[in-house]
Amino acid sequence: MVNPSEPESFGAEPNGPVDLKRIEQAVGEILLAVGEDPQREGLKATPQRVARMYAELLAGMRQDPREHLHSIFHEKYDEIVLLRDIPFYSICEHHLMPFIGKAHVAYLPDGQVLGVSKLARLVDCFARRLQVQERLTDQIADFLMKNLQPTGVAVVLEASHSCMTIRGVKKPGAVMVTSSLRGIFKRDPRSRAEVLTLMHADRG
Ligand code: ZN
Repeated sequence: MVNPSEPESFGAEPNGPVDLKRIEQAVGEILLAVGEDPQREGLKATPQRVARMYAELLAGMRQDPREHLHSIFHEKYDEIVLLRDIPFYSICEHHLMPFIGKAHVAYLPDGQVLGVSKLARLVDCFARRLQVQERLTDQIADFLMKNLQPTGVAVVLEASHSCMTIRGVKKPGAVMVTSSLRGIFKRDPRSRAEVLTLMHADRG
């Protein structure tokens, strides 16, 4: 794996709310720097809008993913649980530009299952931060492995990065795929093949 996981904190733990005023000042500076008039009608409220936008897009930095663990149920079910095609958006920490895609999250329970909507909420919680896709994938997998204690976890993310589709090499349509496999899905080739097949079943 490229990135070491952060099993305890799962990312930054900021103090206090987003400093909206500071973002507004910074956006005003950007407008001046590119040669714009921040006072013209169309731009007047832009700093405030951008500040609120960042607070929304990065809300996961101020959420504790453990709050989604309240709906853990004890079940004997011991086959793969998969939620696939979970839409997500995140912000690339290198360019502050969005990367957008789908997450497929699977686990093999060992006595405990998680309410299905919570898998989607966990993806959101980790995605709404400054991220790189590799770390985001690892964080979701490590969090489930640690807190649900399943036999295995498989997380696959497919995403398009606007920092490479509209700038830089400009390759629209290029999709980055990352996977984090834990437990039996890492150890056992047959289990891995099964979960990856389920993730891509019925697709052309
Ligand atoms: Zn980037």
